[in-house]
Amino acid sequence: MKPAPFAYKKAHSLDEAVALLSEKDARLLAGGQSLIATLNMRLSAPRLLVDINNLRGLNSIYEKNGTVEIGALTRHAQAERSDIIAKHAPLIARAMPHIGHPAIRNRGTLGGSIAFADPAAELPACLLALDGEVEAAGPNGRRTIRAADFFKGLFETALAPQEVLTAIRVPAAGKDTRVGFAELARRHGDYAIVGLAASARADGKGLSDVRLAYFGVGATPVPAKKAEAALARGDIDGAVSALDLEPHDDVQATAKVKKHLAGVLLRRVACQLLETRP
Ligand SMILES: Cc1cc2nc3c(=O)[nH]c(=O)nc-3n(C[C@H](O)[C@H](O)[C@H](O)COP(=O)(O)OP(=O)(O)OC[C@H]3O[C@@H](n4cnc5c(N)ncnc54)[C@H](O)[C@@H]3O)c2cc1C
Repeated sequence: MKPAPFAYKKAHSLDEAVALLSEKDARLLAGGQSLIATLNMRLSAPRLLVDINNLRGLNSIYEKNGTVEIGALTRHAQAERSDIIAKHAPLIARAMPHIGHPAIRNRGTLGGSIAFADPAAELPACLLALDGEVEAAGPNGRRTIRAADFFKGLFETALAPQEVLTAIRVPAAGKDTRVGFAELARRHGDYAIVGLAASARADGKGLSDVRLAYFGVGATPVPAKKAEAALARGDIDGAVSALDLEPHDDVQATAKVKKHLAGVLLRRVACQLLETRP
């Protein structure tokens, strides 16, 4: 299929992008790896595409005062090769190779992935597990939105129609930071059937501040609060029993299979967090 007709404008500044978004049915175009597919399948038909690929200063990655900031136009491939992300945001580093395939990672952007909010995507869950935040620019200036408040529903976020996501921020990993990541997909690079991103703090022989964020089991990334508490006590069986996810059947698997896989992944990720063997 071919997309419905649309107009195309290239924004040369953030202000211009925000202004262009005020036009009826305007949509931002970043890497195009999700948007172009939805246009081609006529799942969406915006009247205007606002190309932000030329905006300067939105693809830097840096660590400052204990926070890692990643510009929205950072390509997945750039993040995958970043020493700063490898050192200071190891959970994101672990997730990157699971996002699609190299050709997709060469074009797709981190901002696009977070803004698109696919419930089976890796990065939204990582952002939630890290208690990160999103920066957005709109007609009324800039604002910061916590990950916990950002993912509102299926492909729905707290971004207003005229806002551009400009960066994501996560706490830089410290000496006692532990992260865990696992997903099950039919083939490496496919969207996950179920996935789990996790962070915690080493606390003696145990863990504190455990944060578990599942993907592929709901309309948004899903925290598993009861399992977090059990895992902090070192009780892996208890954590699996405490999982209260409510996935639905989808094209990949039944809800029953997804629940089972969620437990399997939790055991794998618990071993990563506790640095023990499965
Ligand atoms: C075959 C295939 C397999 C894939 N597998 C995976 C996978 O396993 N895991 C995964 O996570 N992703 C996967 N993807 C998607 C890929 O990660 C995309 O790059 C990503 O979802 C969207 O990023 P993008 O830059 O391409 O955004 P685009 O496609 O350009 O845009 C996506 C949406 O986000 C909006 N948007 C983009 N940037 C911004 C911004 N800065 N501010 C506000 N809104 C914005 C757009 O308006 C659009 O609605 C796959 C894609 C393909 C084609």
